[in-house]
Amino acid sequence: MLASRLVAPTRRIALTPAIAQRSFYNSALRLQEKKPVSGPSATPVTPPSPVLKTEAVTKTATTPVATGSAGTPPPPPPPSPKKKWGFWKTTWRITYGSVFATLIYAGWSIYETRHPRENQSPPDPTKKTLVILGSGWGSVSLLKTINTSNYNVVVVSPRNFFLFTPLLPSCTTGTIEHRSIMEPIRGIIRNKESDVTYYEAEATKIDYENRVVTIRDHSTEDSKDERQLKFDYLVVGVGAMNSTFGIPGVQDHACFLKEIPDAQKIRKKIMDCIESASFKNLDDADRKRLLHTVVVGGGPTGVEFAAELQDFFEEDLKKWIPGIAKDFKVTLVEALPNVLPSFSKQLIDYTERQFKAEKISVLTKTMVKKVTEDTIIAEATRPDGSKETLEMPYGLLVWATGNTVRPVIRDLMANLEAQKNSRRGLLVNEYLVVEGTEGVWALGDCTATKYAPTAQVAAQQGSYLGGLFNQLARAEDLEQEVRALEAKASQTAEGSAERKSILSEIESRSRRLRRSKSLLPFEYSHQGSLAYVGSDKAVADLTLWAEGNFASGGRLTYMFWRSAYLSMCFSMRNKILVLTDWVKVKVFGRDVSRE
Ligand SMILES: Cc1cc2nc3c(=O)[nH]c(=O)nc-3n(C[C@H](O)[C@H](O)[C@H](O)COP(=O)(O)OP(=O)(O)OC[C@H]3O[C@@H](n4cnc5c(N)ncnc54)[C@H](O)[C@@H]3O)c2cc1C
Repeated sequence: MLASRLVAPTRRIALTPAIAQRSFYNSALRLQEKKPVSGPSATPVTPPSPVLKTEAVTKTATTPVATGSAGTPPPPPPPSPKKKWGFWKTTWRITYGSVFATLIYAGWSIYETRHPRENQSPPDPTKKTLVILGSGWGSVSLLKTINTSNYNVVVVSPRNFFLFTPLLPSCTTGTIEHRSIMEPIRGIIRNKESDVTYYEAEATKIDYENRVVTIRDHSTEDSKDERQLKFDYLVVGVGAMNSTFGIPGVQDHACFLKEIPDAQKIRKKIMDCIESASFKNLDDADRKRLLHTVVVGGGPTGVEFAAELQDFFEEDLKKWIPGIAKDFKVTLVEALPNVLPSFSKQLIDYTERQFKAEKISVLTKTMVKKVTEDTIIAEATRPDGSKETLEMPYGLLVWATGNTVRPVIRDLMANLEAQKNSRRGLLVNEYLVVEGTEGVWALGDCTATKYAPTAQVAAQQGSYLGGLFNQLARAEDLEQEVRALEAKASQTAEGSAERKSILSEIESRSRRLRRSKSLLPFEYSHQGSLAYVGSDKAVADLTLWAEGNFASGGRLTYMFWRSAYLSMCFSMRNKILVLTDWVKVKVFGRDVSRE
């Protein structure tokens, strides 16, 4: 009995130590009440302070058993092995459970990816045709949310995959293989409720008056085949193009960083420059030029690319091609007074310090004026306000700044009176309807809104529109039901029970219809900004509460950066591939062979 009382609470320690401790204390007290302690140690037990309670009472209870000698404090009882290992057991169980749950989730996701829906309903010609232009952040997020059985959905995009752009800078150095961040559009649409038509094509004209989009086939390099698509509803999510700000030479000599071929081109060019710089009898100035990479644009894309390139040099190139070590140089050029202008001041300072430590030169308040085949001419503003002209010989120039509207959007804007004054993109109202139209919506980088052109904004707009289309479909269904009920009511006898029941049904559906028709405007919720700054460090500006944010930088933030991007990857396949790439690079280093 005695033993069981002492053991039972210890068992509970494994579950919740605090409760178990309290039970142990109570048991010990009960023990004392039943068996009075004799001898000098049998002084009345004064309740000790709450924190020390358990320890004090445990000693008293065990005194007679321990020594029974006066004055000598009895040694504490040996900790019960169960109590000692309880914490580790709980931790182990939690870890084991989480790994098991993750494996089940991963297995299920992989199974789903490998086995697309077989019962997809075919397109229904009686339903409205919704044409979605683009397969980027905005359009794909809309596709994910919308119930496609309510519409005939047609997707048009020259790119038959979704691209996870935040990890694109990592593809330029081979930290991540480009296929790891691509998700085929076919996989996305095959898992929708009803069949979605996809055309690998580019929209060349949007004829709003006749509700027709002209599309040009992109399935082969030289195809010029053009078709016309009629639409009831249209969503424009074609993104933006790189802007050169009209600076002479940029279009011809710079590499951009927006799509997979851009990353591949940069990767090839890096190796071209390095191998050429190592070529026989090259003069010093030429070698230095070839090994000088200039990145224009101090936003997250430019910063991340510069950091990735410097990592590539430090961790791999320097080891395998030591001859280039002393002349390899990365320069980041930014027209504004600092890099990462959308981040908080301490993170800007941290990034600039970090770049200094990594030997990346940062030129702020410097504007590129002209680019020739081998030199960049820029104008720098000195602290006293005077201007200085800089000439920078370069081997690789990466242009990571500026967006401009695509020709198809420019043409649509020119044909809509309400859009005539817009320069940056399509003007939309708070429901993302293109100003001056009905049944045409736009989202993401092709719009001119108060929000920054980011994936976060585009994705939120996409899921908002998905919800809006689902709501519209519900409203249309309810409207039809109300009309049918009204027709039925008109054929039933006045005052009959059946009529009363129909009328009450009409009333209830009309109420639901009113609710379905009251649409809420789009509201953006900023989750924060992240950027990789090199040497396994990152910066994060996170929005944690309504008016405050949490800024952090360093290695832990880098772990957070990685886990955040991993969790954001589109599919389980992407997540596993990206993780594998990271592990591969840690184990074997980056591949220095030509692309
Ligand atoms: C390297 C890089 C890193 C980035 N990192 C981040 C980041 O970390 N966080 C963040 O929030 N944002 C980031 N961004 C910005 C983000 O990628 C864009 O804001 C986002 O892609 C915009 O989404 P979108 O749907 O408007 O356009 P996009 O994603 O660009 O998609 C446009 C789609 O339209 C298609 N298209 C183009 N022309 C036509 C046409 N004529 N007809 C039909 N389809 C057409 C394209 O093929 C593409 O599928 C990054 C961008 C880049 C380039």
